[in-house]
Amino acid sequence: MGDRPDNSRLALAGGRAQLGGMGFRVFNRGLRWAGYLLLLVVGAYAAVLNLPGVLFPYHVTEGRLRLYSDQPIQGAGPVLRDAQRRIETSPIDDRRPHTVAIANSEWRRKLVFTIQGGAAGVNYYPLTGVVYLRRADIGQNQLYGASGRPAAPPRTLSYYMAHEITHSLTGEHLGIARLWNRRLPQWVREGYADYVGVGGRTDVADLYRREKAGDPDLSFARTHTYAEFRLLAAYFLQDQGWTVDQLLASTLTKAQAQAAMEASPPKL
Ligand SMILES: [Zn+2]
Repeated sequence: MGDRPDNSRLALAGGRAQLGGMGFRVFNRGLRWAGYLLLLVVGAYAAVLNLPGVLFPYHVTEGRLRLYSDQPIQGAGPVLRDAQRRIETSPIDDRRPHTVAIANSEWRRKLVFTIQGGAAGVNYYPLTGVVYLRRADIGQNQLYGASGRPAAPPRTLSYYMAHEITHSLTGEHLGIARLWNRRLPQWVREGYADYVGVGGRTDVADLYRREKAGDPDLSFARTHTYAEFRLLAAYFLQDQGWTVDQLLASTLTKAQAQAAMEASPPKL
């Protein structure tokens, strides 16, 4: 008699435990299906990114660069040759074909840029080796920024092509052990892409002088352009004689890199 309340409590608790277990199993199964669905969506998205011809019906090939666009392409030869010449200034150029796609229509741009709405270009390496750029006037070698205005020199369309392809080249060069290029300090990742983007060798002293004079183009905080990082990359590569591998292995923060440059500034 005395133990009956305990027994019923036990029975109740057991019932709850059983119900809880069933609920957990249902939840678990739901989670697994959500996981499959997510994989399917990511897989389908990666497939679309890897097959630019699906969304971008026009294409031309020049040298080892192929260009896709959602509009008829004219006058791309010199731009593609210029972009290839720029990436060939890099010792980590893989000498293999590369593909660029220009998204002129807003819906295509939104689809391929996703959350990177303000970017001029996107690189999803290693998910795809195809790099995507914003609306451009190919004949004028110009790319239109998020503001709707053409990007200012030296940022031509061929600059953007070479910049984005350089992200693929660093990712390929560093490989999975370095999480492709995801773990590079921003000043190294963007500084080197910018350095190759403008065609390699840079007038370091001129950039340094402009930075000291307060040129907004040399301030990432003010303009979100990468010339400030390019100056640091160029300083170490040219003035300090670093190899590209040394640059890509650097763990200096931007502040530390800047301090090192201030301690032994480029000769003006
Ligand atoms: Zn970049």
